[in-house]
Amino acid sequence: MVVNTQVTSEVADKAQQGIMEFLLINHPLDCPVCDKGGECPLQNQAMSNGRGESRFFESGGLKRTFPKPINISAQVLLDRERCVLCARCTRFSAQISGDPFIELIERGALQQVGIYEKEPYDSYFSGNTIQICPVGALTSAEYRFRSRPFDLVSTPSIAEHDACGSAIRVDHRRGKVMRRLSGNDPEVNEEWITDKDRFAFHYATAGDRLTFPLVREDGELRPASWTEAFAVAARGLAAAGSVGVLPGGRITAEDGYAYSKFARVALGTNDIDFRSRPLSAEESSFLAAHVVLTGPGGGGVTYADLETAGTVVLAGFEPEDEAGAVFLRLRKANRAHGTNVVSIAPYTSRGLRKMGGSLIATAPGGEAVALDELGMTGEHPLDSTSVILVGERLATSPGALSSAAGLASRTGARLAWVPRRAGDRGALETGCLPGLLPGGRPAADAQARVDVATTWGLESLPETAGRDADEIVAAAVAGELGGLVVGGVDPDDTADPAAFRAALDAASFVVSLELRETDVTRVADVVFPVASVVDKAGTFVTWEGRPRWFDAVFTNPQALPDSRVLAGIAEELSSLGLGGPLGFRTVAEVRAQMEELGPWDGERAAHDPVLSTGSAGRDGVALATWKQSIDHGSMQDGDDNLRATARPAVARVSQAMYDALGSTVTVTGDRGSWTLPAEVADAPDGVIWVPSNNSGNGVLADLASPGSRVTVKGAEQ
Ligand code: SF4
Repeated sequence: MVVNTQVTSEVADKAQQGIMEFLLINHPLDCPVCDKGGECPLQNQAMSNGRGESRFFESGGLKRTFPKPINISAQVLLDRERCVLCARCTRFSAQISGDPFIELIERGALQQVGIYEKEPYDSYFSGNTIQICPVGALTSAEYRFRSRPFDLVSTPSIAEHDACGSAIRVDHRRGKVMRRLSGNDPEVNEEWITDKDRFAFHYATAGDRLTFPLVREDGELRPASWTEAFAVAARGLAAAGSVGVLPGGRITAEDGYAYSKFARVALGTNDIDFRSRPLSAEESSFLAAHVVLTGPGGGGVTYADLETAGTVVLAGFEPEDEAGAVFLRLRKANRAHGTNVVSIAPYTSRGLRKMGGSLIATAPGGEAVALDELGMTGEHPLDSTSVILVGERLATSPGALSSAAGLASRTGARLAWVPRRAGDRGALETGCLPGLLPGGRPAADAQARVDVATTWGLESLPETAGRDADEIVAAAVAGELGGLVVGGVDPDDTADPAAFRAALDAASFVVSLELRETDVTRVADVVFPVASVVDKAGTFVTWEGRPRWFDAVFTNPQALPDSRVLAGIAEELSSLGLGGPLGFRTVAEVRAQMEELGPWDGERAAHDPVLSTGSAGRDGVALATWKQSIDHGSMQDGDDNLRATARPAVARVSQAMYDALGSTVTVTGDRGSWTLPAEVADAPDGVIWVPSNNSGNGVLADLASPGSRVTVKGAEQ
């Protein structure tokens, strides 16, 4: 085949110029006010291949115009006269995200992008259409007319909203983030990100962002210098006696390492747990035995493995809501290779349908049995090309994680754990669990303790078995723990929000490291403002175990990384004769220490399997729930256009339950009631699903624990 281009063929050159002339017949000359001006391929090609003057006089030289803009969603706006009908947006929606709510309609000069009258554009990935639109036809309500591309400075970073580790580009101007775009990383998120990753960043500049340390005096918090706050925190923790550490799951791996070392060295305790959500001892054992230290190249499952897997089993995990990049990869795998996606879940979600998946309808608590039976029925055969993805929600289903591990070992399928928060996996690797030290070392293993103590220049590490987050809360309520050091934990995310608040009240001294005012900072004795993800360098570890380094976008002297704050308190504690200094101040120094310590190469902790208690025979309706991608989460505060695209809160029930209850239901649990519309789903009878965080303070605070029994009444009953 001989290919001629504009370089070798006059005909090709003329054709290109002709096409440009056609494209520009109706394209407005509004580049100076268009968001795309300065980064527009059409603008570039008009400069290189366009004519200086138009020959289009058919309508008196007037270009086609439309009323503008059209909201194709609360977040995406369409200026139709700029559209060059390339179909990138419609193809992305139909082929990549599977949300075909926009379409090219009409023909010829009238052809344009439209939305279905009864189905507005509804997608968690809609912002990608803005980024790939080659002209300024699709713009973001958030960014429209806010800035010019050539005024922006771009810094690569990693998204902080889930455990996917998606590459992003942060565009900023004079110390302010103006927009975020998807980066291009073929091994991770390819070139797509979720709308939450793209649009949810205003939380970091919210009006209640903490900008200076606070110490409590005469019952009131007052501003203090960093030096004073370090000293007051150290004195308070020393006086409190035993202290528990709750770092939360939004920290970088470097911060996780600092929390882990702070607990062991400065406080002399193994009472540390990053899990700020329902958890179980079975999960701790599962993570130590099957998850920590796995990673790309070390036997861990990767995005690429998802693409080539024959079957992928999802348990306690809804990728579209909880890990967008995993969802897109699974959808791609299904479309390209026919990967069989099987979900052990209460109903067929929209995401599962888009992955071409099949449902094993399961009531909460029944996941263990479903996993046990999966390998036996022959309906979904598993082998070494299969992958089992378990979500953090499986911790609330006794025996399920043990069954997942058993299924993997019986069939040869590979196993991976997908948490929700960006810092969870890094916190696990750096020892923010009572039973794990940094580098995946079991805290109960004497050799592992010696290993760490030697590197840290200590004689020994604490031997007493630590408490998990629930036990720390219970111990604080019971007066067995005097102090608490709390990172980014929202009490309403925890297993028992009322108990968590009671623990904060009962503790004699609380130190809070936070971005913004929360229920924790309001009762804390010392509050340290910590750096947001744009203010510090660090590492997020993906669900695969892949480290994702990023640099600080800004230098913000008003907020220090958690690691620097902990180092400051540790130094003050050391001067009081307690513990010792952490031996670092900067993130680079923390990273150097982590590298010096390295990963554990000894025996892993064994997994203590737990037998399922099952869900059969229990009265009432079982509550199934998970967080939708866009909801009341505090990291979406200030992003009203994004929030407006949240899926409405509906309860999902079986046809029989819907027939009995009607279209509005009131769900009542041991923590409150919620009345909301109901929709029919292919759920088992005796199960109701509701979104976790779309009303009030969320299901955990205002309704009941996941998997617990609730009563459900129809509006007429
Ligand atoms: S991507 Fe932009 S130019 Fe292409 S069809 Fe969509 S709106 Fe039109």
